[in-house]
Amino acid sequence: MPRRTKIIATLGPATDDPAVLDEVIQAGVDVVRVNFSHGSAEEHVQRADTVRNRARAHGRQIGVIADLQGPKIRIEGFREGQVLLQEGARFVLDANLGPRDGTSERVGITYKDLPSDVERGDTLLLDDGRIVLWVDEVVGGEIVCRVVVGGELSDSKGINRQGGGLSAKAITDKDRADIRVAAEMQADYLAVSFPRNAEDVLEARELFRAAGGHGGVIAKIERAEALEAIEDIIRAADAVMIARGDLGVEIGDAELPGVQKRIIHLARSMDKVVITATQMMQSMVESQIPTRAEVFDVANAVLDGTDAVMLSAETATGRYPAKAVAAMDRICRGAERQAGSVAVERRNPTRFTRVDEAIAKASIYTANHLGVKAIAALTESGATALWMSRVTSDIPIYAMTRHVATRRKVTLYRGVYPVSFDVTSTDHPAVNREIVDELVRRGAVRDGDLVIITKGDLSGVAGGTNAMKIVRVGELIGPAT
Ligand code: PGA
Ligand code: MN
Repeated sequence: MPRRTKIIATLGPATDDPAVLDEVIQAGVDVVRVNFSHGSAEEHVQRADTVRNRARAHGRQIGVIADLQGPKIRIEGFREGQVLLQEGARFVLDANLGPRDGTSERVGITYKDLPSDVERGDTLLLDDGRIVLWVDEVVGGEIVCRVVVGGELSDSKGINRQGGGLSAKAITDKDRADIRVAAEMQADYLAVSFPRNAEDVLEARELFRAAGGHGGVIAKIERAEALEAIEDIIRAADAVMIARGDLGVEIGDAELPGVQKRIIHLARSMDKVVITATQMMQSMVESQIPTRAEVFDVANAVLDGTDAVMLSAETATGRYPAKAVAAMDRICRGAERQAGSVAVERRNPTRFTRVDEAIAKASIYTANHLGVKAIAALTESGATALWMSRVTSDIPIYAMTRHVATRRKVTLYRGVYPVSFDVTSTDHPAVNREIVDELVRRGAVRDGDLVIITKGDLSGVAGGTNAMKIVRVGELIGPAT
């Protein structure tokens, strides 16, 4: 059985070693993320190119996510690179201080409007919550704080406000330039960081399209206010990422598990894709095996129904990138063997609006109830495969398409596998036979198995799927190929 849950690996210095990258691909990575928060545009273009070349050499399809930096608010630098903050001490975030002039008394900030966003009584969290500051007063460009939790603080660490509500716009000038790079590298997905609402997501999509980008748009849920607009954001995006790092800082770690479960359920019920991200295998940055807690975290995300699980530092800068992917692969498969992950869920009693949607959903229900071994969806855009994969099932869905962009896009969909397939014939029995032959070649089915095929009367028409055909392998009527 192929693994259904998809694995995303963030690329970085650790995967620049060609031998390591090959191991990561062989360990089963489905999608890679290039992270525009670090490194240069050239580096990202180079990494995406290399991955596609190596994937081709392995006979694989690997999707590429271009992840924008977004308006991550950071402190500037210190004269000495870092300082030690003592609990109870006074510490000033100073909009007017130079980028390298920080001391243990004050430090500059990248977002110069931050002083107008905060007030006395606010809690500011630095370095993913490791340093906690309480705002005593705001005077002009100075945010005067008390250190509640101290420790070492070094250059360029992030700042979040507990409860969210900072006004920084989601798409920065750097993001606009990076969107053009993402379009140039033909990114399969553009990930939008820190969107506040659906408009932010739609704006990113417009910029991406205007730059010639064809990929899907991922909304990263990492601000408290995004949760208030969650349905609109999901609707505006193709996929959402539960960005547990920043989100956990803003809403508090105790809220995260409930939010994760709610977003996964909501996204799937709205026919959208969902990624669970950050610190899933964090200890493997240094260690060859995950902790038991990490094993349970990955498994629980799979049981919740996530499409994909993501690795960040584990692969980008960690010591064991391939081992982290291999561990995820093993744990996803283990979780998928549990009955809970294949339970047929009851669906919302929504009406279908399109014929292709009706065929796709009827097919997966039929497959689940008839004991079908595989589904083959002849598809232009991948939409039928996506609809099918929104219904819980343990039946593999093969997205058969002549478009390489579609094959790469479906790498993110749970239970969907891309197959290069070019239909030229309108002789339906012959096409059915070709499809089944392809599945037999892949070892997906054998004589006597039932297969569902979905397609349109005319091939090559997006949205044209209007038929479901149920065939038994070895009993096809039509000319042999
Ligand atoms: P990042 O986003 O890795 O780009 O910070 C993910 C997160 O915040 O969890
Ligand atoms: Mn983040």
